[in-house]
Amino acid sequence: MFVKPEHLNRPILTLLFFLAATFSSFAQTATKPNIIFIFSDDHAYQGIGAYGNKIAKTPNIDRIAREGALLTNNLVTNSICGPSRATLLTGKYSHLNGYKRNDNTKFNTNQTLLSETLRKSGYQTAWIGKMHLNSLPAGFDYWNVLPGQGHYYNPEFIGQPNDTTHHTGYVSDLITQFATSWLDKRDNAKPFFLIVGHKATHREWMPDLQDLGAYDDVTFPLPSTFYDDYKGRVAALQQDMTIDKTMRMKLDLKVGVDYDKDWLYKRLNPEQRKVFKAYYDKVSKEVTDKNLTGKALIEWKYQRYLRDYFSTANSLDRNIGKLLDYLDKSGLSKNTVVIYASDQGFYLGEHGWFDKRFIYEESLKTPFVIRYPGVIKPGTKVDNLIVNADWAPTMLNIAGAKTPADMQGKSFLPLLKADRAAQVPWRKEAYYHYYEFPEPHHVYPHFGLRTSRYKLVYFYGGADSWELYDLEKDPTEVSNIYGSAGTEKLAADLKGKLKALMNEYKDDEALKILATAKK
Ligand code: CA
Repeated sequence: MFVKPEHLNRPILTLLFFLAATFSSFAQTATKPNIIFIFSDDHAYQGIGAYGNKIAKTPNIDRIAREGALLTNNLVTNSICGPSRATLLTGKYSHLNGYKRNDNTKFNTNQTLLSETLRKSGYQTAWIGKMHLNSLPAGFDYWNVLPGQGHYYNPEFIGQPNDTTHHTGYVSDLITQFATSWLDKRDNAKPFFLIVGHKATHREWMPDLQDLGAYDDVTFPLPSTFYDDYKGRVAALQQDMTIDKTMRMKLDLKVGVDYDKDWLYKRLNPEQRKVFKAYYDKVSKEVTDKNLTGKALIEWKYQRYLRDYFSTANSLDRNIGKLLDYLDKSGLSKNTVVIYASDQGFYLGEHGWFDKRFIYEESLKTPFVIRYPGVIKPGTKVDNLIVNADWAPTMLNIAGAKTPADMQGKSFLPLLKADRAAQVPWRKEAYYHYYEFPEPHHVYPHFGLRTSRYKLVYFYGGADSWELYDLEKDPTEVSNIYGSAGTEKLAADLKGKLKALMNEYKDDEALKILATAKK
């Protein structure tokens, strides 16, 4: 018998509404996947097993790639920390989100944010770990972040509303611990979006005690460009980021550290100090005894740099493993998308460098692996040109939310799902614009584009020079063919495309510079 609503009494109505609300919340939880975005700092793709490195021990990042997809051409739009994070949150290029440099810019939270958009779509949102945007997280229901760069040992965290707490231990472990305890106490009725921001593998590469010496039995091969002479490349010649001249024996390589005075190391507690000092005293003695000079010293520095760098990455990867284990044990794995990415790439001795910034491959490209059970086929590889402005629209797409009109990136979820990615319409050129100059590494500001085969760059602000690379013939980018006979048509064509990209992305400042650029 059909009962008219007015014939139902109030308790029954309430019960019906409750059941409807519960069912809709259940349906939402069941259909909307959770998203965990693990975001490291300065972790080079060429230092990861899944990207072909045979020495690196990164079984957990490799696992995400194996069980999901790996992007081979995931490019950043401005290769430094803060700007990449601002692009992650806004889906926009630096000139529109206002965060161009790693200076004291305060991130403008008064714009459309990935976090807030997900929250409006029913997600519970949290940022735990490194953030580094000179502002408190916005659009996040929960946060516990490192102030600024944060510390590897015994770090402080800023929790809500704005309280600093001190902790004993190693930063990667603490971040994982805070992430899993938030997952334990979250509201189970809602899907969640969690950013786990890692400090590793940022300079000064201080490994966890258990990882000290993890690569001491390895001799890292020298990259073919290690002794690059920068011929035909004005900006590369004038940078200040070489292992030879810029890398510091004491603060970077821990040679002759004064553990009571040097600010980075004096925060170790007595137990940590004992282990740390014993290891690096041996390192210091080795280089003093050998009395190295010239190339022998540069190569010694290179080996030490990579030993510290890869050992620091060990704890990053181990902690990613702990989080994956947690998801398995709690039953969350099957309905949780897990992404691992770094804020940009990094030089591991290529061109004689460490650091990032340049549009050249090692810093332009950043690792990105994603696992999405039931949607992405295990072992998927995507070669299309993805940019970090695409990350936010992709996650919104996964969450079933529309990309807000002011986001400039596009969802690449169709590429991840496609059997034949070549049939999905996608961009043929990716745009790049870097600003920070002259400090800290004297890399001239520049803009450019990359296609699947070519790269065109203009360095301005004093360098005023064009560079053109054929990545098929010259994958290590040592031969600038701009201006050489036979490349005129190619250069003109790419310049036209560069201008079109500047118009598309509304980079008015770049358009002005291009209009008066040297021919
Ligand atoms: Ca970084």
